[in-house]
Amino acid sequence: MPLLELDQVCVNYGAVKAVRDVSLYVEHGEVVTLIGANGAGKSTILRAVSGLARIASGALRFSGTDIAKTRPDAIVRAGLAHCPEGRQVLARQSIEDNLLLGAYIRKDKDGIARDLEKSYTMFPRLRERRRQPAGTLSGGEQQMLAIARALMSSPRMLLLDEPSLGLAPLVVEEIFAILDSLSAQGMTILLVEQNARLALAHSHRGYVLESGQIAATGEARALLDDDRVLAAYLGA
Ligand code: ATP
Repeated sequence: MPLLELDQVCVNYGAVKAVRDVSLYVEHGEVVTLIGANGAGKSTILRAVSGLARIASGALRFSGTDIAKTRPDAIVRAGLAHCPEGRQVLARQSIEDNLLLGAYIRKDKDGIARDLEKSYTMFPRLRERRRQPAGTLSGGEQQMLAIARALMSSPRMLLLDEPSLGLAPLVVEEIFAILDSLSAQGMTILLVEQNARLALAHSHRGYVLESGQIAATGEARALLDDDRVLAAYLGA
């Protein structure tokens, strides 16, 4: 059984059919990327999975459980963490407070302290600056904080929306290296990226979205070799 499964999912914003009959799955330990033009429905799929957008029809299962009507906080508690587009860190709060916010669903003080320590080991720059307002961090550091904050809920799966947006190439490499290391530790990841070529290079599989529908899917390597996908989405 896949960890995450969407079956014929539709999401509407009023009259706008943002996601149309999307079926996809993510296996345990897989990194899967959604690519497609602006407005293709990628973010909406992530929002539907984390309960922030309601599906009009279809089925949504996490670990075999129907989550179509589950509240966002309960979805986090079930083990799905969403790292939203634009990072959305609380600029005036300290880095540490931002991290602790990621653990808001948890009550296990010792586990939270352990995971905080783990975040700081993984992101040493966050430790150095833990008392500073998050707004003083660079864009790349804020993205790292957003990922670390999502990990503070102790998830089994991470939804990542445009982690490389607006970052310099070297910082983007750093972010993808972090994703590789999370993946090597067994984390399951569903990724949305504009930077399709790079994202596919760090993924097992991908789905190409076009106007809310899946236009192509396959192994990441095969998509990277597909002339049609290359021409339309990878700027070749
Ligand atoms: P981007 O990379 O630009 O975020 P995307 O592929 O993630 O694009 P979505 O943000 O999921 O696309 O948007 C899908 C469609 O739904 C678009 O036509 C968009 O204009 C529309 N849409 C998204 N959010 C809303 C909203 N809150 N209200 C109305 N329409 C929306």
